[in-house]
Amino acid sequence: MEEERKIKCDCGQILIEKKADFDNFKTKAMVCPKCNFITLTRDQAREYIKLKRLHDIIDKESKIIKIGNSMGITLPEELKEFDIKIGKKVKLKALDTKTILIEI
Ligand SMILES: [Zn+2]
Repeated sequence: MEEERKIKCDCGQILIEKKADFDNFKTKAMVCPKCNFITLTRDQAREYIKLKRLHDIIDKESKIIKIGNSMGITLPEELKEFDIKIGKKVKLKALDTKTILIEI
């Protein structure tokens, strides 16, 4: 764990940790409540790099295929980097009529 340190913005405010939009996805960052300046701590930058890689791997269109009498979608092989392997149990959850969440 990184030590809690207060980071002061050039405008004088103390940055607060919150989720911020970065390259079309949300990640934890240090944000100035006054001028909206955004920066990342070392831990947040590491998390951001991992998250960016995951988005690069998974954010694309897929097609439902037939597997026996069931329907399936394939997942990219690169997901192994995130410990997502054949045989791993996942939880499916309907968020709304157009969105299904796969919890790993
Ligand atoms: Zn500021």
